[in-house]
Amino acid sequence: MIDSRSPLNRQEILAELGNRLPSERIETNETALKEASVDRFKKYQSVHEIFNAPLPVAIAYATSTEDVVAILELADRYLINVVPRSGRTGTEGGLETSVSNTIVLDISRMNQVLSVDPENMQVTVEAGVQLQTLEDQLREQGLTTGHSPQSKPLAQYGGLVATRSIGQFSTLYGAIEDMVMGLEAVFPGGHTARIKSVPRRAAGPDIRHVLIGNEGALAVITEVTLKVFRYFPENDEFHGALVDDMSTGVAILREVITNGFRPSVARLYSPEDANQHFSHFSEGKCVVIFVAEGPKSIVEATSTEIRRVLGQHVHQDVDPDLIEEWFQNLNWGPDKIEAEKKAMLDNQRLGYTTEVSASWSQVTDLYDAVIRRIRNEYPYAKDLTMLGGHSSHSYQTGTNMYFVYDYHIDASPEEEIEKYHIPLNAIIVEEALRHGGSIVHHHGIGKYRSPWTQQEHGSAYQILTALKNAFDPNGVMNSGTIIPVEGAIQAAAAHPDQQLDQWASENRGREDSAS
Ligand SMILES: Cc1cc2nc3c(=O)[nH]c(=O)nc-3n(C[C@H](O)[C@H](O)[C@H](O)COP(=O)(O)OP(=O)(O)OC[C@H]3O[C@@H](n4cnc5c(N)ncnc54)[C@H](O)[C@@H]3O)c2cc1C
Repeated sequence: MIDSRSPLNRQEILAELGNRLPSERIETNETALKEASVDRFKKYQSVHEIFNAPLPVAIAYATSTEDVVAILELADRYLINVVPRSGRTGTEGGLETSVSNTIVLDISRMNQVLSVDPENMQVTVEAGVQLQTLEDQLREQGLTTGHSPQSKPLAQYGGLVATRSIGQFSTLYGAIEDMVMGLEAVFPGGHTARIKSVPRRAAGPDIRHVLIGNEGALAVITEVTLKVFRYFPENDEFHGALVDDMSTGVAILREVITNGFRPSVARLYSPEDANQHFSHFSEGKCVVIFVAEGPKSIVEATSTEIRRVLGQHVHQDVDPDLIEEWFQNLNWGPDKIEAEKKAMLDNQRLGYTTEVSASWSQVTDLYDAVIRRIRNEYPYAKDLTMLGGHSSHSYQTGTNMYFVYDYHIDASPEEEIEKYHIPLNAIIVEEALRHGGSIVHHHGIGKYRSPWTQQEHGSAYQILTALKNAFDPNGVMNSGTIIPVEGAIQAAAAHPDQQLDQWASENRGREDSAS
């Protein structure tokens, strides 16, 4: 916890907020404030109503860019920490309030689709528009955003852009950074910047990227212009195959992608992860999945190539209907979030994920190294009920690895994070760095991966700190997110390497029993 640097106390901050927003848009209910102090990094603690981050002063609901300007002017003038939020599906502590007397700035009521322009294939939305809402509206016109993260029913454009999100059809449509054409954002102090939408430009560095991925640590995104695509669901073709090992699966993904084909979905599941979703057909093997999407001739060519590449490797075909069936029920809406809460309370079981990326030549070694290290080095490996992973987003030069770990909790809710989530996350992140990959593929750094931001960027880290100093010189934007700040997160996470080293030395010689 970090003490507020503001000369104003809670009551004075509230009074200043009251001068800028009507009272019905300033939430001070204690339960709402507690829930606003965390995100899904602490989902187990939240469900047990344990909230140990500083209680925010208020949740301020903006309904216009002018509201955002007013709040960021207030925050900057009086050194008040601000945490922007939209759909609240963040998983890495980006929404956690690290500083006492924080204002949580909620933009979910800025939820208007401002224009749909089918001729120029773009749409402009306020940043609180839910992705699902926009997608449903576009599909009525034969268009699609092409963006389909699993959190599609809940996530909103501000957060989607701020975290550099990616969807299940990324191999065809790209990630959010490939879709954003123009932006409006408000900086601390209240300066509003609009980046116009043009097909391409060579007018200096691409300044959209200062905002895409800023995680609320530089500015608040208020409006977004995005590309849209034609939608041909009637042409979709599904492919599935079982293979014996991850390296065969990676070779198949690599060949299809690097030969220049763009299936919308290209995935590989480890046997353990596959067993969670496909136990009715996976037979303890790795599962490879492709979806070919788009105009008919492209779908046919893509499917022909998928079949050709599969034919060059030992595999068993899977009935395409089984893949299509699984695909229809993939996204997470409020129902699944509620079911997860109930399961956490009833069973003391929990599942988390950590997603990283690596080159084609390193990704299998990275996968093996993580699994080996967790099984041999992590002292509570016996509590894991599932450990595996999948690749779900592939590129010309490599792919991501999405590690999935479920465990039975043999600890109090307060201890859970330090005993399980933080050390498991740390092993994965450390191995990603050791294998030359990235510590985060699509969830953002938040606060809990910020201990490694400097290692991630090496000599380029100075570019990030310079951006922070230039755009947020008073340090009021989401303190501890992306750039580490002492006291922003729990002790073990602040020095994860030392914690793991200590465990490794305490447990040397116990490896065999742990595995
Ligand atoms: C079940 C589930 C499935 C998921 N699947 C995926 C997936 O497939 N792909 C993927 O990429 N992610 C996924 N995520 C993670 C999450 O949905 C994404 O990170 C999403 O982009 C967050 O959007 P949000 O609107 O919920 O943002 P929030 O959770 O509200 O905020 C996330 C971060 O962005 C900042 N932020 C929010 N709004 C703004 C704004 N207007 N301006 C500046 N900063 C802002 C916040 O301060 C915070 O740091 C999943 C999460 C869950 C719970």
